[in-house]
Amino acid sequence: MFSYSRWTTREVAIGNLPMGGLNPIRIQSMTTTDTMNTLATVEQTIKMVNAGCEYVRITAPSIKEAQNLTNIKKLLSTKGYHVPLIADIHFTPNAAEIAARIVEKVRINPGNYIDKKKFASVAYTNDEYNQELEKIFKKFTPLVRICKEYGTAMRIGVNHGSLSDRIMSRYGDTPHGMVESALEFISMCENLGYHNLVISMKSSNPQIMIHAYRLLVATMIEKGMNYPLHLGVTEAGDGEDGRIKSAVGIGTLLADGLGDTIRVSLTEDPEYEIPVAKKLISRYLKKEDNLPNKSTSNLPFDSFNYQKRTSVPVSLFGGGQVPRVIVDFSKKQLKNPAILSEIGYHYSALLDKYTIHDIATDFVYFGNNLPHFNLPGSLKQLYNYETWLSIRNHPNTHPLFSLKEFLKAKERCSELNLIHLTTDEYWALKDKSCLLEKNTVIVLESTKNAKMSDMRTIYGDLLTQNYTLPIVIRYDYSTNDDEQFLLDSSTDVGALIIDGFGDGVWLNSKNVSNQQICNLTFGILQATRTRISKTEYISCPSCGRTLFDLQETTQMIRAQTNHLKGIKIGIMGCIVNGPGEMADADYGYVGSGVGKITLYRGKEVVKKNINTENALDELINIIREDNNWIDPPLI
Ligand code: SF4
Repeated sequence: MFSYSRWTTREVAIGNLPMGGLNPIRIQSMTTTDTMNTLATVEQTIKMVNAGCEYVRITAPSIKEAQNLTNIKKLLSTKGYHVPLIADIHFTPNAAEIAARIVEKVRINPGNYIDKKKFASVAYTNDEYNQELEKIFKKFTPLVRICKEYGTAMRIGVNHGSLSDRIMSRYGDTPHGMVESALEFISMCENLGYHNLVISMKSSNPQIMIHAYRLLVATMIEKGMNYPLHLGVTEAGDGEDGRIKSAVGIGTLLADGLGDTIRVSLTEDPEYEIPVAKKLISRYLKKEDNLPNKSTSNLPFDSFNYQKRTSVPVSLFGGGQVPRVIVDFSKKQLKNPAILSEIGYHYSALLDKYTIHDIATDFVYFGNNLPHFNLPGSLKQLYNYETWLSIRNHPNTHPLFSLKEFLKAKERCSELNLIHLTTDEYWALKDKSCLLEKNTVIVLESTKNAKMSDMRTIYGDLLTQNYTLPIVIRYDYSTNDDEQFLLDSSTDVGALIIDGFGDGVWLNSKNVSNQQICNLTFGILQATRTRISKTEYISCPSCGRTLFDLQETTQMIRAQTNHLKGIKIGIMGCIVNGPGEMADADYGYVGSGVGKITLYRGKEVVKKNINTENALDELINIIREDNNWIDPPLI
């Protein structure tokens, strides 16, 4: 957890491209075309391969799609493409057994493969539980035998939202339940002498997904297993939010040294997932030379459960408060209040009044730069110490000290003082009594390449020493690539926040606007579920089962509902895995037939098979009935 090294797994043969062991981390994605449309599926596969996709997954919901994999494979081969194909199976052993003879790998979901769900809470006696496992073993055995005979690999793909009733009855929908679900199928495969396995533990909630993979690895190590891992965050959504969620989940685990293949699930055309996956992996291709000064062998925090570090409250930081957001305006022209709309404060000259958006930064750092207009009353301002001295009687103004300044300062703020400290300065600090000063918050900056593990090492030290001052995570990035900045910062901040560390976040990149930084920081906090500031969309990436245009529909729903802070809306192409697939969505908009939508409140169906044209209005009506609707703001 403190310095990067990759967990070595067993090599698994997948056609001509093995994964695990010393092989590079492989990139994969899934087609969104109808599997019966051979030409469209082949064309999309070629686009994906040309973008850098190394394995292509294709849905095979029934026997006819499984059979058509032969035609797809043949046509790809005629065109000179020999990419390993993976058949995505959900329920049907018949389809799996056909596909396993054709493609290089099959993916099964142990939550619903053979084990039909009743979506009911059923209490199982030990005997009933074991009898069901025996029944599954009997029905699963032919597939394993075929895989052995044909040299086909298998992914045991556990999904948080579709655990079996049996697993739910004993473990609930927890990371523990996810691990047990995989172990049952691993053990059946091992009993049959079959080890060509890859395992995944997906969830749309990065926190659950991270904890489940870590628990799986810890359990596998305990049992002497080392099966390779396929990493992914399901239903991550589209655009910036989908990328942030994926980076928090996948990036954190890659930084742990876990993962042999990744799939970034975006509600976009699959070829757009590939560059994101490449950028996530790229950090681990080069050796990070600047490793932390100190390592701790004992992990002083729980890496399997979320628990926020205890800190004392200082002004808006720490205690039980949400992590705060700081944005840097020190190099801006501060002549006109309209500039604050970049960070969520919209000024109306007519009313001489600010309106505050849900995504509005808590603190602005002005450095030595004094604004020439009145600021919103709720916006806290940070100034360099010397500049602060000249305006110290103004409300909402607080000093940012260097360590030297702080130690010598004759005057401090009675409410809030921030000390900027690099990780090197932290370790060099012999007398750490300033970390015990009242009304003080540390802005901790890592200047290392391995920023996150550098910071995590200090987190460990703070816990061991019982220092309870609030800490702001501060990183500066120099990349010219906006997307790389988004992915790197989401990983570097997200991993620590999920560890329980960080009472505030302050990101900088010279090439990115303050508006982007503000949105990104709130996005990371939302993805880690530590600060909810907007509507969350749990939308599937779509596949050959999709019953409507998912990208267009997601945009349409987003346009009408994106002001509903804190509401989670699941948008799913089909209900293949049941409503649980939408994880903890408050409302679900799910394809249930051609031109038909079924609407859910939580996991309960409220409107069945309504026409697509009316579906969004009906969804809004349900939100209204629940008193969760508010009219969009007039900005
Ligand atoms: S929920 Fe979406 S990605 Fe999953 S099977 Fe249905 S259409 Fe395909």
